Amino acid sequence: MTKFGALAVALFAAVVALIVASSARWPAPTPAPPRRPEPVIVVVDAGHGGHDPGAIVHGVQEKRIALELALRVSELAGEEPWIEILLTRSGDYYVDLRERVGMAEREGAAMYISIHANANASTTICGAETWVHESVRPGDVSWKLAEVIQRNLVNATGATDRGVLRQPLYLRHTDLPAVLVEVGYLTCPREHQLLQNPEYKERIAEGIWRGIVEFVR
Ligand SMILES: [Zn+2]
Repeated sequence: MTKFGALAVALFAAVVALIVASSARWPAPTPAPPRRPEPVIVVVDAGHGGHDPGAIVHGVQEKRIALELALRVSELAGEEPWIEILLTRSGDYYVDLRERVGMAEREGAAMYISIHANANASTTICGAETWVHESVRPGDVSWKLAEVIQRNLVNATGATDRGVLRQPLYLRHTDLPAVLVEVGYLTCPREHQLLQNPEYKERIAEGIWRGIVEFVR
């Protein structure tokens, strides 16, 4: 046999052995489909809406900024199949405050984040702050969520860090981790401009989104 012939025979034998080996395992057990982990549900609320514009400063309406940001956060979540964002509103209409948190409860959400823009009689107050209900204490899960969102928002935007603040809020109607993020002051001239800047709004949305991802992890 030539060298080539020997090689051909060896190859043939190997193929036959492979076929025999594979047919011996037949029928192969049907592999169970991989279990998809349930996505973590996050309810993102665009503050105000419809008849309630929130703050209006020189024609800029808080409800519009809040909706834009919420929609953008929801789009960013498209990249992560393990987090599902549900919006309390996706257009310019009003949703009852209790219904907003009620939706988060019903859907088994892991957290509730409401997006707002701030206003103050003083035009020198600028910066981002994250609110929790007044009964929340440092170390509580809502406080931790607020810290994570606030830090990521400030890192992404470079906004003045006004920290985590306590207020009497409708968030008392849920036991879920729940925060209200005030992304900037419409009454602060610099932030009034920034909150109309698409690039800056993208940074806000990214900051909130990164905060959600960090908290889920
Ligand atoms: Zn508001």
